[in-house]
Amino acid sequence: MNAAVAKKAFDFDPENLRRRYVEERDKRLRPEGNEQYIGVEGRFAHFMDDPYVDPGFTRAPLADEVDVIIVGGGFAGLFAGARLREAGVKSIRIIEKAGDFGGTWYWNRYPGCACDVESYIYLPLLEETGYMPKRKYAPAPEIMEHCRRIGRHFGLYDHACFQTQVTSMTWDATAARWRVKTDRGDDMRARFVIVGPGPLNRPKLPGIPGIDTFKGHAFHTSRWDYAYTGGGPEGNLAKLADKRVGIIGTGATAIQCIPHLGASAKQLYVFQRTPSVVDVRNDRETDPAWAKALTPGWQRRRQVNFDSLIAGIPVEDDQVGDGWTEIFRTVFSLAKAPGGTGTADLEELRQLADFQKLEQIRARVDAVVKDPATAEALKPWYNMFCKRPCFHDDYLETFNRPNVTLVDTAGRGVERLTEHGVVANGKEYEVDCLVFATGFEVGTDYTRRADFEVRGRDSLSLTDRWKGGVKSLHGMQTRGFPNFFIIGGAQSGVTVNIPLTADEQAKHIAHVISTGMSRQVRSIEISEAAENAWQAEMAAKAVNRDKFFTECTPGYYNGEGKPEDGAFFSGIYGGGPFEYMRLLEDWRANGGLGRDEVLTAE
Ligand code: NDP
Repeated sequence: MNAAVAKKAFDFDPENLRRRYVEERDKRLRPEGNEQYIGVEGRFAHFMDDPYVDPGFTRAPLADEVDVIIVGGGFAGLFAGARLREAGVKSIRIIEKAGDFGGTWYWNRYPGCACDVESYIYLPLLEETGYMPKRKYAPAPEIMEHCRRIGRHFGLYDHACFQTQVTSMTWDATAARWRVKTDRGDDMRARFVIVGPGPLNRPKLPGIPGIDTFKGHAFHTSRWDYAYTGGGPEGNLAKLADKRVGIIGTGATAIQCIPHLGASAKQLYVFQRTPSVVDVRNDRETDPAWAKALTPGWQRRRQVNFDSLIAGIPVEDDQVGDGWTEIFRTVFSLAKAPGGTGTADLEELRQLADFQKLEQIRARVDAVVKDPATAEALKPWYNMFCKRPCFHDDYLETFNRPNVTLVDTAGRGVERLTEHGVVANGKEYEVDCLVFATGFEVGTDYTRRADFEVRGRDSLSLTDRWKGGVKSLHGMQTRGFPNFFIIGGAQSGVTVNIPLTADEQAKHIAHVISTGMSRQVRSIEISEAAENAWQAEMAAKAVNRDKFFTECTPGYYNGEGKPEDGAFFSGIYGGGPFEYMRLLEDWRANGGLGRDEVLTAE
């Protein structure tokens, strides 16, 4: 079916929808973009405290040497540790500011927290650790426990330093070692360092007037205060039974915790600026017969199947078959229907499939939410992937509770805070407790998000090196920083299911480090020519999504309405995840270490 035929087959008018989307976006555009937010600093610094550890913990400072220091014990660090172990590297230390492994799954313990990417493709190293998730979608405690399992399985607790914040990382060219200092007085050395701080690790707050005048209780979702609310990740927040609670934000995090707040609080006010796309979740228990029949290599095959669809590559069978893949399936089936024009107008068909999907999402709101005005306000008017789509079976239903009030601000956001509450639409709502579900910094300096400066050759700082934008080879190495590796999205072939690329990067880095060690290489630094060649390849493969993102409602995916100011997916490798992985495999097979690097011998 071509786009013109498809348009006639639908019972909506694409032009009307297009117009409405632009109007809704325009209500939300703000000239200050990312600058509307403030960091969790100063008066709010305690929002970053770790509520899950013994604050009195002490240990003697370390002044030793290991082969590899990995900073960050989330998925990136765990993949790196696991793949290094498999490559035979024994002397590894993970440094982590939290009290255990888990990264985002350590910090985010809010009630209802879970991953809405399917557990079988999202949880790392399932076959290696012999673990099968209990359900299609894993709750946060299960993911956190799996992180601990990986730590145990690969011996990564040995030498690990928890509750330890790196404060500086400096290359000592004479010794050819990295010196890593921490807030516990450590002064460690390592031949190699790998950093993986994660993309969304630094909470942010709205920079609204009066934010520091509020006298009630307040916290950010990424440090849930169970001492105040009672209950746990499964809900039952009993201490809120006599409390008026406000929550600012209705993104992926808020969607998951609002049903629990609604069930427990005396009164809940949900302050909304933009409604999320909330699709059905359709969670279910893992079928033991299905799990038993899986054959080796199944996890990787399933990940590739999922990411192929998301990358726009048709597959025979959609193995995951969920809300993420549905829209792509629809596009392909529209393209293949009688009168099909193949791929000629895929973009237009994709838009029509998106309109159709969002019509379903909006109809679902009407079907579930009883009060018509509340239902109207909960309907999203933008393309599905302008923001992170959400999947939840109880969120919309929560607004039928008599103690839950949606305070929709028609795109304006809350105006200010007072000593006693929140002002929105000119009205003050008094609350005892305020929950900030306002997300995380995106687009700020890499070293700010990592929380320490890295100084490479000739004391060059990474902040200065990347002032005009990230420059790297494959997103993992950067010139001027020998024996230094990054696991992350910039300049890499990242996908929706982030663990797939993170694992490929970990395998690649483990290969480079273990080969370097076995060849007694002292330092590995990429050449200027290699870095420039990767910039040229990045430019050649760049996919310009500016039009799509400019038309989107603001959010962190599009630099808060300014894609040029650092949208989440900007600066990724446009060839997509599979070409990226192939390219890394070819690199290892054809020359590998030494091909693009300047090496010095021990
Ligand atoms: P988001 O950045 O997605 O959401 C922040 C929310 O705060 C938005 O609703 C935003 O509104 C709102 N907001 C900001 N300022 C104001 C204001 N002045 N007045 C009213 N509202 C305001 O953060 P989240 O923590 O929800 O999610 C971050 C990411 O974490 C997700 O995108 C996802 O990648 C990940 N995540 C993943 C989950 C999973 O299942 N795997 C679950 C939860 C989170 P507006 O939309 O108008 O900007």
